[in-house]
Amino acid sequence: MKYPVLGTLTLLLALQVGALAQNVRPSQGTVPKASTRKKAPASSESVTATETSTVVIPSWLPSSGPQQPAATLLHDLQHTVLDLRFDWAKQQVIGTATLTVRPHFQSQSQLVLDAKGFDIRNIRLLLGNGKEKALTYGYDKRQLVVNLDRSYARTETYQVRIAYVAKPNELPAGGSAAITSDKGLFFINPLGTEKGKPRQIWTQGETENNSAWFPTIDKPNQRMTQEIRLTVDGQYKTLSNGLLVASKNNADGTRTDTWKQALPAAPYLTMIAVGDFAVVKDTWRGKAVDYYVEPKFAGTAKAVFGNTPQMLDFFSKKFGVEYPWEKYAQIAVRDYVSGAMENTSAVVHGEGIQATRRELLDQNFDWVIAHEVVHHWFGNYVTCESWANLPLNESFADYGEFLWTEYKYGADAAAMVQQTSLNHYLQEAEDKRVPLIRYTYRDKEDMFDRHSYQKGGRVLHMLRKYVGDEAFYLALNQYLTRNKYTAVEVDELRMVFEEVTGEDLKWFFDQWFLQRGHPELRITHSYNNGQVSLRVQQQQDTVYTPVYRLPVAVAVWGNSNQPTIHNITVTKADQQFVFSSSQRPNLVKFDDEAQLLAKIDEELSQEELLYQFQHARNYLQKYQAIDGLRTKVGDLTVSAMLRNALNDKFWGVRVAAVEALKRYKGAEGGAVRKEIQRVATTDTRSEVRAAAITTLNSFSNEDFGSVYEAALNDSSYVVISAALGALTRNPTVNSQAKISSLQETPNTRVITALGGYYALNGHLDQYDWFLSHVETLQEAELYTFLPNFGQFMQRMPPIEREKGVKKLEMLARNAPSYLVRLGAYKGLSALAERSQELKTVLQDIRAKEKDEGLKGMYNLL
Ligand SMILES: [Zn+2]
Repeated sequence: MKYPVLGTLTLLLALQVGALAQNVRPSQGTVPKASTRKKAPASSESVTATETSTVVIPSWLPSSGPQQPAATLLHDLQHTVLDLRFDWAKQQVIGTATLTVRPHFQSQSQLVLDAKGFDIRNIRLLLGNGKEKALTYGYDKRQLVVNLDRSYARTETYQVRIAYVAKPNELPAGGSAAITSDKGLFFINPLGTEKGKPRQIWTQGETENNSAWFPTIDKPNQRMTQEIRLTVDGQYKTLSNGLLVASKNNADGTRTDTWKQALPAAPYLTMIAVGDFAVVKDTWRGKAVDYYVEPKFAGTAKAVFGNTPQMLDFFSKKFGVEYPWEKYAQIAVRDYVSGAMENTSAVVHGEGIQATRRELLDQNFDWVIAHEVVHHWFGNYVTCESWANLPLNESFADYGEFLWTEYKYGADAAAMVQQTSLNHYLQEAEDKRVPLIRYTYRDKEDMFDRHSYQKGGRVLHMLRKYVGDEAFYLALNQYLTRNKYTAVEVDELRMVFEEVTGEDLKWFFDQWFLQRGHPELRITHSYNNGQVSLRVQQQQDTVYTPVYRLPVAVAVWGNSNQPTIHNITVTKADQQFVFSSSQRPNLVKFDDEAQLLAKIDEELSQEELLYQFQHARNYLQKYQAIDGLRTKVGDLTVSAMLRNALNDKFWGVRVAAVEALKRYKGAEGGAVRKEIQRVATTDTRSEVRAAAITTLNSFSNEDFGSVYEAALNDSSYVVISAALGALTRNPTVNSQAKISSLQETPNTRVITALGGYYALNGHLDQYDWFLSHVETLQEAELYTFLPNFGQFMQRMPPIEREKGVKKLEMLARNAPSYLVRLGAYKGLSALAERSQELKTVLQDIRAKEKDEGLKGMYNLL
């Protein structure tokens, strides 16, 4: 599964709350004060009694949850046959499930199934030859306990058929940051009353939500083959796992499609979708590769998904296991509750992946497509045995984004992926540090975090760097081959790496997979009498995180154009390394390949950083130099470096340089601004042009109105949005007509930017425009759009303002998404300054809010 945008925002929000609420954070070298925020963990921490009396509990340490073992296997699922039809009006699934099962070890006289909120019509034991026997059962609306006619031994396979009605829409709501609802099956626009929205049915099984629409043993350590017959209105397309083996028109105008998956997969990977889709066909080694999109996006489906066959090829070769499943389909659905989901051979994406050609100028979706492709080996072919081992799915999928980028777009682009992952993880680590593999989570949904994804991906990268490419891929091949179609835990991964390399790797797996935290390193160096001394201090809290063993490369740059590489292994909290060098080096670079998952504070002089930029061998080294010199931009050598960087061949470096030149006040002012103006108008990459516009806008005493006006005609929506941002505080007469015409642009980024522009510059003419977009924007966009709407209404006449206030109040109280409620609340706040009545309303909204995170946020506002 891949995080949705919303999940990320939710997380950011949580971080905001966390960071602000946190009043005690132990800092290095000072005597830590006792924190009042967290209680000591109940147990399982390796802290002695004497230690706890003086040790501060870090705010990022979550209290420990209960032990979460893998589900005990009483039965093994073998095969599932589903016959399904749908009652759109009642949002119900009318189904028959025929399960073939076998006791796992002990003989069983009962079969316990997960089945959430069903009406059970009857349960039969199938005796063969068309004979059957009614079975009794107990049912508490969560689990169905079927009483068998006798005890069955593990040598005996039997079949049970259950006729039921599933009512996923009537289940109590739940969810997580990664999956915003756990209903399992979703009817979109079921009555056809929502204008402009197609009618669809789709499912989201992970984590244990498929049991909301068919009875199963809803655990990741089960595995089954399946056959799903979907009876739908004749006009709809269907999709499920495996192959479409039959499609039959029925007398009543419906059609029954039969999808069959002959290879076994875990129940959470089962999916169905129904709706009006265009199916764009591709192929790879004779297997169908299909893209299901809304008909109006049929023309660009290949532009979005077209690298999929190449990815199947790339990863088949890398892993040494040819893509095993019967086909590869991807579908984009409305109102999806996650980012994307790797259902075996039938991946679901959110509607946002459907892009126009123009939108594709600014971005591609390879990263999420590659993520789900990789799951077909790591997750689907070999599956984590329990959610505690989720990183065995997600870390590999996350790392797959890096591997694909490295292969397709080069080392610099890959380094940028790596940088983003590290930052994402470090952000989360401000507030939460847990082991990657954790058997004591409180809620299984908590596993879907930046640890399981981004930290895990980075850990795999370090493992690859440590053992080398050949051993890395050989070990992965053995792991996949040996464990195919089974469930695994992390030790199985460790053991193949140990077998291949011949080395005991317990140290690596312990510190990175089983312990929490990350190294926080202070790096200094000095030169004396022909010797370079490098000091590495591990400054992390070593009560709750380990002292790390870190194999790492150090590059010592003498006077030649090639550095001497020293491979060292850091093992102590404070350690000195000595290298001989005939002269004072120009640069001593710790972690030369920038592969460590760590927070590194490296003391380098201005000269060294300039040298580093000049001799950098990758994007990250250039970025570090720019970042390290950010405060010295006024110096001529530094601004010269940045102007040089504006012409770098890699666009990420150009963005970094443009951003570092914000509010530049040095001696080269005129020349610098002229350069940035050139970048804003001519750079080939839209992100760079957009960043340049934002930087121009930071020069408050200068008028770049004509540059912004020209940018409104840019091909890129990102650039247009940046220009709107720049014009917000300095509107020009010449741009007004163009801005009005942008109101019709079908791009949410532009609409959001326009919202910001009109917040300050709009008038009554835009009132209806605002109102209509309040209805159509998605949750994450509304979070910024609604505060702008509030600000805009400050200038509206009383009647319009009153109507807008009612709308915002309704959303602040009742919107299902708390991001929307918060956005609406902020919109109301913008109007409350002059209204005692509104202040009372806000107080009441705060008092009635039930979401803990949002309540915390309100307390801080
Ligand atoms: Zn994933």
